[in-house]
Amino acid sequence: MDVSNINKYTDLRVRINTVSRMDKQRRRELKAEGKRRVEEYSNQVHQRLAERNPFPVGDPNWVRNLQAEYKINREYRKNDSQVLLEAGVIQNSEIKILGFNFDKGFMPHAGWYVLCENCRNLVPTKCACTLLCSCGAVAVMPETRQYLLPPSDKYKIVELIGRGPIRSPDSARQWWKFWR
Ligand SMILES: [Zn+2]
Repeated sequence: MDVSNINKYTDLRVRINTVSRMDKQRRRELKAEGKRRVEEYSNQVHQRLAERNPFPVGDPNWVRNLQAEYKINREYRKNDSQVLLEAGVIQNSEIKILGFNFDKGFMPHAGWYVLCENCRNLVPTKCACTLLCSCGAVAVMPETRQYLLPPSDKYKIVELIGRGPIRSPDSARQWWKFWR
């Protein structure tokens, strides 16, 4: 065995050690980062839940809000004939971005809407007749099983999550009409 070969092996081992030390540290960092993200996410979830229903679980106002929330969700899921305006929807619900697009094909689903980034219209993915957003970039045509979508950064697939109308104990009697 000549010297150059020994050097090669040594080099390799040194490199492996370095890599595995880095790996350990990287793993620790990733773990810490993961933990931080989970905490951040659950804080966000708590915050969002509290925003949606600011009363303690079981409180009469909490119950009323929850019932309203379910009713709103049901209406949005049932809607198969109307294009909605984002400005109207945010009055009584939260727009939840689902985080995927229809690059691999369109999938109609009750309660899923396409939010057009250009005109801020919401088109139900599952509709009974042809529906278009106001700028014409999004179209769903169940009659011919066709659809039209802009590039994936120009639209979002979203779900609408209802929010009960009671925001503070004094506003307990303010029920608004959320659906016309
Ligand atoms: Zn549009």
